[in-house]
Amino acid sequence: MIPFVDLKSQFKAIERDLRSRIDAVLEHGQFILGPEVKELEQKLAAFAGTKHCISCASGTDALFMALLAKGVGQGHVVFTTPFTFFATAETIALVNATPIFVDIDPLTFNMDPKALARAVDAFNKRDPSIHPLPATVTKGSSHKLAGVMGVDIFGLPSDYDAIHAVASEHGMWVMEDAAQSFGGEYKGKRAGALAEIACTSFFPAKPLGCYGDGGAIFTNDDKLTETLVSIRVHGQGSDRYEHVRLGVTGRLDSMQAAVLLAKLPPFENELKERQRVADGYSTMIKRAVPDLATPTVPAGYRSAWAQYCVLAKDSAHRTRLRDKLQAGGVPTAVYYPIPLHQQKVFAELGYKPGSMPVSDDFATRIFALPMHPYVTNAMIEEIVGKLKSA
Ligand SMILES: *Cc1c(COP(=O)(O)O)cnc(C)c1O
Repeated sequence: MIPFVDLKSQFKAIERDLRSRIDAVLEHGQFILGPEVKELEQKLAAFAGTKHCISCASGTDALFMALLAKGVGQGHVVFTTPFTFFATAETIALVNATPIFVDIDPLTFNMDPKALARAVDAFNKRDPSIHPLPATVTKGSSHKLAGVMGVDIFGLPSDYDAIHAVASEHGMWVMEDAAQSFGGEYKGKRAGALAEIACTSFFPAKPLGCYGDGGAIFTNDDKLTETLVSIRVHGQGSDRYEHVRLGVTGRLDSMQAAVLLAKLPPFENELKERQRVADGYSTMIKRAVPDLATPTVPAGYRSAWAQYCVLAKDSAHRTRLRDKLQAGGVPTAVYYPIPLHQQKVFAELGYKPGSMPVSDDFATRIFALPMHPYVTNAMIEEIVGKLKSA
């Protein structure tokens, strides 16, 4: 059996440092906001190339806290993609804003900036014939433009220059959902540093994962940092029991920070190994299984390869390939089977199946192959061999 994600091999590689860091937390006993948390935030900010890093309890909390800090709420619209994990749009809806979905570019699986421009135009004119709009955004509704949440799906950063061009023309902020892309790069900058606020996740299966839930927010803005630090602990003011706003219990604990500190030194090398695995898959699949479309990384981008996803010809082709792999001890997964505009909870937005044609199509054809730094070249050969024989 080839593991889909291999946390055991990684644990063996970092075991000594990891155990001594966890021991240190057990000894000092500062389980909440201990010294590991500060050290980690400094190292993460240095890695991403931002002035500040605010660690937090999960990627979802990072998004939620960032939206709260920007004052996003009732009546605001936020543009994002439907081809992402649920949390991206869930947090927009949790702060009572309205997500407007924008379809993806078929090569990068990320938001298509041209579609974004059309969606903003459609919103301003309240004209869904230009681009599909939520049914709740009607002629004469008082909704206001707020911002754009870019998503760096599968580890590849979005085209932030193009997104910023549209957003700034209309006075909108941009955020980066970098939950999958920490370690990725765009035009010489790292994921986390590609928008005013970026959010990442340390869920165990992400490229940089802890041993539980964790996340972080990145920004260069001092004022936003102050607000986020307050939101992280119940809107705390200058004193622990003074509350100046509403917040959450959003802290990263010292144990998880210790785990991440042990995982940071080998991280750059792991990114290189992920690149080797992706290159191996792409080269061999193009040669042996030309019916499968392999992922594209445009010039000037680096993917963190959270996932390696391929596109089958159609749903039946995907089922045949996945069944063959499964029977041969190779796990696969589908990210994501239901695009967000078709999720039940967003039914009131009134999006029709097919309204995001690329996302709707890809959801029926996409699947992910095992991706982690310990996939060997022999495993890649074996996996591609099984795909070919199917
Ligand atoms: C994982 C993920 C999140 C949420 O992160 P959690 O740490 O699981 O809360 C948000 N957005 C995307 C794109 C993700 O992949």
